[in-house]
Amino acid sequence: MVNPSRSLPCDPTFEEIRAGLAAHRLHLDRLARSMRSEGQLADASGQIPEALWKACEARALNLNLVPVEHGGCAAVQSLVSRTVLMEYLGHADAGLALALPGPGLAAPPILALASPRQQAAFFRRFDNDTPRWGAFAITEPDCGSDATAMRMTATETAQGWRLNGTKCFITNGARANCIVAFATVNRRQGRYGIRAFLVPGDTPGLVVSRIERMIGLRASQLAVLTFTDCELPAKALLRRDDEHPLHDAFSGAQQAWDYFRPLLSSIMIGTCRRVRDELATFFDAGGLPASPHLRVADVNDRLLGIDRRITAARLLCHHTAWQADRQLATSMDATITKAYASRIAAHITREALELAGLEGIAAHPALEQSYRDAKAYDIMEGTGDLQRLMIARAAQRMPRDFIWGSALSVP
Ligand SMILES: Cc1cc2nc3c(=O)[nH]c(=O)nc-3n(C[C@H](O)[C@H](O)[C@H](O)COP(=O)(O)OP(=O)(O)OC[C@H]3O[C@@H](n4cnc5c(N)ncnc54)[C@H](O)[C@@H]3O)c2cc1C
Repeated sequence: MVNPSRSLPCDPTFEEIRAGLAAHRLHLDRLARSMRSEGQLADASGQIPEALWKACEARALNLNLVPVEHGGCAAVQSLVSRTVLMEYLGHADAGLALALPGPGLAAPPILALASPRQQAAFFRRFDNDTPRWGAFAITEPDCGSDATAMRMTATETAQGWRLNGTKCFITNGARANCIVAFATVNRRQGRYGIRAFLVPGDTPGLVVSRIERMIGLRASQLAVLTFTDCELPAKALLRRDDEHPLHDAFSGAQQAWDYFRPLLSSIMIGTCRRVRDELATFFDAGGLPASPHLRVADVNDRLLGIDRRITAARLLCHHTAWQADRQLATSMDATITKAYASRIAAHITREALELAGLEGIAAHPALEQSYRDAKAYDIMEGTGDLQRLMIARAAQRMPRDFIWGSALSVP
């Protein structure tokens, strides 16, 4: 398990995180206020509203989630502290939390697969006054869940590498300045034929073919990226050192999923808390439950049920993150965390719509948006169905070939 926080600090409190980030010129309250007020506009347009850049410096946003040795903030180096931060931002707006600048999903494979020099070059890009995004490109139109069956090819040339193929559903793909892209040098070798490359966003032959019209998490702009004869220098191939051949670059993708599942789950837990708060505000202001059969006591009971689910999901997130910070294997914990968080997010956001009804939704549009965001979240980072299958397979010790494709093997 990759640990981007090389020296492990004690887990800071939220106040310490807030103060640490403020010293790094990232003012959390200002950022969250802006995300909350601009969330609807971002949802409607799929863009990051200009007001967000006025609320915070681009450099401070870029360096969010960057390791401390490359300029990141010491207060948010452990995965536990990052889950706390992401829950806070998810409460403001899930789509914008995903759309914020920074290395994002590209960071874990860089830390797992790249040499120190490659890592320094990658993270240096984010120490900049203009917003910079990283992206992680593995999914293809013909192989989503079964990523090891990818078709994008990497061909060795005299100068380095040539990439050809298409990647889809790439978070922040259209705005990314650098993309960690996975391609195969030999499809017959399955996952062992896969290599990871650092592709600058302005590489000739790399085209943003489409930005998806999404049901939720719209500000994160999922893009289809087409690579046509993209020529890359030899140093674009991610490898820990230049001496030895690379055996399993796909493990870098798995580490990215293991690392990001608790982080993304935290965003949705924040969103669930926002839903809970909006519901409480609606009923406190005299709003009536949509169903005439529900009494005040029933509403309170439902709110308690929501609290219970949120708390359980948060504990799962923190438990997984705590283990990851200690270099313990977390694949199954991360899978369980994501499966549970996506299930409670679907449940809570649907229940909120049923409770508040049309009157509540009109007064609190975040309820409707959260329902759509939860739907999109269930698919990202491996669909909820597949997470549940992996858990069932581990629990029942099913044969390995129960799920076609080895991409989602249980350790
Ligand atoms: C918001 C969002 C952000 C994303 N960001 C990125 C990103 O940054 N980078 C990236 O590379 N990818 C990204 N993805 C892709 C994502 O990680 C999923 O892996 C991908 O969407 C799943 O592939 P698919 O949509 O082609 O579904 P498919 O794999 O075609 O699956 C379709 C349906 O079949 C089910 N299914 C599939 N296989 C099995 C099986 N063996 N047994 C039972 N049921 C099965 C699935 O659960 C699903 O319901 C993102 C997706 C979303 C929605």
